[in-house]
Amino acid sequence: MKNITYCTRCTIPSTQEGVTFDEMGICTACISSEEKMHIDWNKREKDLLEILKNAKSNSGNGYDCVLPISGGKDSFFQAHVLTQVYDVKPLAVTFSHNWFSETGFYNLQRCLEVFNLDHIQFTPARNLVNKLARKSINVIGDSCWHCHAGVGAFPLQIATKFKIPLLVWGESIAENDGREGYGCPKIKFDRDYFTKVSAKLTAEEMVDDNLSSKDLHPFSLPSYKEIDDAGVHGIHLGDYIFWDDERQTEWIRDTYGWKETEMEGTYKGYKSAECIMSGMHDFTCYLKRGYGRATVQTAVDVRNGLLTRKEGFELIKKHDQEIPEALDYYLEITGLNDNEFYRIMNSKKLKELHEVNIPVRKKEQQNLEKIKPFVEQIIEKHLKREDPRVLRDKK
Ligand SMILES: [Zn+2]
Repeated sequence: MKNITYCTRCTIPSTQEGVTFDEMGICTACISSEEKMHIDWNKREKDLLEILKNAKSNSGNGYDCVLPISGGKDSFFQAHVLTQVYDVKPLAVTFSHNWFSETGFYNLQRCLEVFNLDHIQFTPARNLVNKLARKSINVIGDSCWHCHAGVGAFPLQIATKFKIPLLVWGESIAENDGREGYGCPKIKFDRDYFTKVSAKLTAEEMVDDNLSSKDLHPFSLPSYKEIDDAGVHGIHLGDYIFWDDERQTEWIRDTYGWKETEMEGTYKGYKSAECIMSGMHDFTCYLKRGYGRATVQTAVDVRNGLLTRKEGFELIKKHDQEIPEALDYYLEITGLNDNEFYRIMNSKKLKELHEVNIPVRKKEQQNLEKIKPFVEQIIEKHLKREDPRVLRDKK
């Protein structure tokens, strides 16, 4: 795309947040992936064992750690590693964005069943989700503030309330992101991690005439003092064990029946499979920054030698510009129309793309997975269904 330069090795664009290139034009993520090969992973695993041993010896009859879980491939794999490899007893904690796909709903339930996890879930009300989705696009330029903020806040709230000091996250930020390297992470997990990385605004900053402090309370972070008093800290497993998305996904699929699905805006079926709106999230990124999910995924595949750079750019052309079906759902829940949506997105475009026409294209085929929250699908189905007793009498 015009006015964007791409990493000379993979397909990462100069418009990715925080990305830097070295003098050869190679991006941070490519350099990280080289670092990853030279890391002494045995030593890192020993560090992990030490952390888990400490957590276990201090937890008494309580849980050894909090496992934030969405049912996605990463949290499924985390559950496997913690319970099957290291014999840790986690409390599984889910912030539900209330946009679960049918596949995602299944994967989460399957995870809880297969690893016998105790589980707490928080789900914000439908109208709150809708209102936040409406505001989100104006303030952060994507539809998903409530998810970014909730995923950060809820596990921390549980960790502080139940006094479970250790939170275990999955993928390292160095894995796919231009902002970090494996060597010496600048962005460590702390109270403000998700605000910095994705939510951008705090719950307090989201309050307005339409959204009260009471509405936003579930998204507030515990205070520094509460966190310190409970000794809460978090780690990313991907900083301690060699992380390989592709292999891990195959493993949980073949071993435990984790399911992929068709995803909007890309060619892979496993990233964010739990959410019907991920196509919407990635499409807004495309409109703002000129790249979507296919760009990010091809970059990883090129780096790992699964695709050539040329094949990568072909896939990007095919998928990034597709208008997701999730946009229809987004317009439905926010009351915005098409023009208003594109006008807002235009105002969010990066400066260097102001003069660039960002092409969009209608999807050729309907998505295999229905783009509607699975709970709404169930409710709809049952409202239509006749009482089984009536059906039996009819027979
Ligand atoms: Zn690169």
